[in-house]
Amino acid sequence: MSASARIDLHTHSTASDGTLGPAELVRAARDAGLDVVALTDHDTTAGWVDAVAALPRGLTLIRGAELSCRWFGVEPAVPLHLLAYLFDPDEPELVAELARVRRVREERGERIVRLLQADGIPVSWSEILAGAAGGTVGRPHIAQALIRAGLVATTTEAFGPDWLGERYRLPKDDIDVFRAVALVRAAGGVPVFAHPRASRRGRIVPDDLIAQLAAVGLAGLEADHEDHSPAEREHVRRLAAELGLLVTGSSDFHATHKTVRLGAFTTGPEAYERIVGLARGVTPVASG
Ligand code: AMP
Ligand code: ZN
Ligand code: FE
Ligand code: FE
Repeated sequence: MSASARIDLHTHSTASDGTLGPAELVRAARDAGLDVVALTDHDTTAGWVDAVAALPRGLTLIRGAELSCRWFGVEPAVPLHLLAYLFDPDEPELVAELARVRRVREERGERIVRLLQADGIPVSWSEILAGAAGGTVGRPHIAQALIRAGLVATTTEAFGPDWLGERYRLPKDDIDVFRAVALVRAAGGVPVFAHPRASRRGRIVPDDLIAQLAAVGLAGLEADHEDHSPAEREHVRRLAAELGLLVTGSSDFHATHKTVRLGAFTTGPEAYERIVGLARGVTPVASG
């Protein structure tokens, strides 16, 4: 990979809560001037096939996912996201765990809808399922229903304290983060902690936990992300250097469910090469 390569290792498609299909996403990635893009839908690999089939010439695809995890070291447990790259999508334990998480996401989504309905808010579960169109259901799909009902103007507002951010927020039964790191490694994948200091999103985990995860196979930390302040990015960089972890930067693109653009943050070629070098599951895909 050349020193000037533009590498974005965190994006979502309609296979979860993005609004571009996987094929549209890889085309948009090339149009945005990216050389490498990773598809990292929440708790699913369902978009991989379409992304590979539509891969434009000149773009390399990293197949991945973003796993919904939880750290149970404090009460209540802290939710966190683990990016997993280039793992074997057929590894049975991981497949079963992802299917379980998708199921609990639906149960939790339905419970949130019932809470909203109990307060007289006109949203329906069937409408939200239709909006998700078979992809992993997430709160952004409920946010869209609130927008359609004219109750909020934007996704950001829907994630505010009066709505999905607090009043109608329910936890889901995510994967224990230590188990997730082990499962990803066992499937030949490379685990990278997504937006680890994003305090504006909610509670964050202590550096000591990150050190413990590094000791059992965590490979990297996402530093450059729109939910990190400059000081938080710097903190993550320093921690990664101390622990010998690689550092990534990525857009976490969701198309119209968020304002961030593809390639808004990028990863250096050395970190990219380290990820590819560690992977034993599937390989990067390039077309042509
Ligand atoms: P869930 O996975 O169902 O808990 O929903 C979390 C998803 O919602 C994440 O993928 C975020 O991208 C998105 N999200 C979280 N907070 C916000 C926010 N304040 N504004 C817009 N999207 C958000
Ligand atoms: Zn998302
Ligand atoms: Fe995330
Ligand atoms: Fe994400």
